[in-house]
Amino acid sequence: MDIENPTVCRYCGEPVYLRSSDKIYGSGLDYGLVYVCAAYPTCDSYVGVYKGTNKANGTLADKELRGWRTKTHKAFDPLWKSHGMTRSEACKFLSVQLGIEQKDAHISRFDIYECIKIIDGITKPYAACALLRNRTGIEFAKLER
Ligand SMILES: [Zn+2]
Repeated sequence: MDIENPTVCRYCGEPVYLRSSDKIYGSGLDYGLVYVCAAYPTCDSYVGVYKGTNKANGTLADKELRGWRTKTHKAFDPLWKSHGMTRSEACKFLSVQLGIEQKDAHISRFDIYECIKIIDGITKPYAACALLRNRTGIEFAKLER
């Protein structure tokens, strides 16, 4: 599902503008354009765009949500980068875990609760497998490395 470009900040209600990201990352650090709240930096909410476009690559996020999305990537990315799932299987995991359609399962669109649910769904089985292996010496999952 395409997401709409943000026009109003969902945190403070101020308008959202498309600006150069050096306003946020400092001059010399240009990561392209961002949709940023007019009240920035008082209201610390923004979202990037797909490279070379004006299309928001996710939903507007404040510092707290950005932190959760980063944690979610840290938990999720190894599934397909080093733990043997294909990218497509890993994306399916996201959609199954959240009960949403695969085309909507993008971390850049998740809210905090969706992030927590994904991190939980990945780390709990890992923790359980590690515990069982430590207690029994049996390798329960090739996932845990
Ligand atoms: Zn705002």
